[in-house]
Amino acid sequence: MAVLVTGGAGYIGSHMVLALLDAGETPVVLDDLSTGFVWAVPEGVPLIVHDYGDGARVAQIIAHYSIDAIVHFAAKIVVEDSVSEPLAYYDNNTSKSRNLIEAAVAGGVKHFIFSSTAAVYGEPGDEPVSEDARLAPMSPYGRSKLMVEWMLEDAGVAHDLRYVALRYFNVAGADPQGRSGESTAHATHLIKIAAQAALGLRPGMKIFGTDYATPDGSCLRDYIQVSDLARAHLDALRHLRAGGQSIACNCGYAHGASVIEVIDIMKKVSGVDFPVTLAERRAGDPAAIVASNARITSQLGWQPQFDDLTEIVRQALAWERRLHERTN
Ligand code: UDP
Repeated sequence: MAVLVTGGAGYIGSHMVLALLDAGETPVVLDDLSTGFVWAVPEGVPLIVHDYGDGARVAQIIAHYSIDAIVHFAAKIVVEDSVSEPLAYYDNNTSKSRNLIEAAVAGGVKHFIFSSTAAVYGEPGDEPVSEDARLAPMSPYGRSKLMVEWMLEDAGVAHDLRYVALRYFNVAGADPQGRSGESTAHATHLIKIAAQAALGLRPGMKIFGTDYATPDGSCLRDYIQVSDLARAHLDALRHLRAGGQSIACNCGYAHGASVIEVIDIMKKVSGVDFPVTLAERRAGDPAAIVASNARITSQLGWQPQFDDLTEIVRQALAWERRLHERTN
């Protein structure tokens, strides 16, 4: 029995591979390396460099490795790009997922874990947001992911397939043992950008909007540590193998931090008072988005271990330093 991890050479996928190995599972990685890295896949783990949307190839992999579960991370994830290239997002995130689900069904894989997103809610209004909130994604990215949830729901009715869709809030931090972290060349996420500013890899950073209806005027987000998130997938796997029902669950800590708080913590942790400028709001940013995590804790038994923003920021900074040393 082995677990196929699409996108296993990427940020969250590589932490999943580590979590699977730590749990004594056998991961197999399928990644086209469009944004992932060979070095992010631990030695001894099979890495198939191929398009995950190629159903015939996936069928071979399922049979060859006796795959019993698929954890599907591979996707394009830049919301802004999804607005300018919607069809590329629907192709990569939606059509290819359809092929993957089809291959799973045909190959007798009964368990599917899908990397979904808080973007399926759009701007929910009520915080913390529960899974029963209205699904109203505001971007092609959010829609491309929501459509996959729907395909899984329908496929689960028609076929012998059960799934867990995990809706990630803001993923951050790095493996506490320093084995992996966020390595993308083009950073857009707040904590990574702040780490680069602290290390002098960029001249400074901007706060996008300080006039939101939040306590300090900057946006509130629920930052979840990446290994905690990977463990949520392990809990989902256990749930499905034990015969649990298909379910969609939020992944977050149920409390938010503001952009200004995050930057202050980065300055404290790094000891560097890097330049910060106040800028206009970034288009499409909701003021606050915080998860209710009642469902994942009660239904999957998930328990966070790294619910500490200072520690998350410290991990992100340590990883950024390591990454910079590696490439220079
Ligand atoms: N943000 C910021 N400056 C940056 C990057 C992000 O002020 O250089 C803000 C962004 O506007 C949002 C929050 O930080 O309010 C989190 O953004 P991120 O891109 O990390 O995640 P998102 O919530 O958009 O998925």
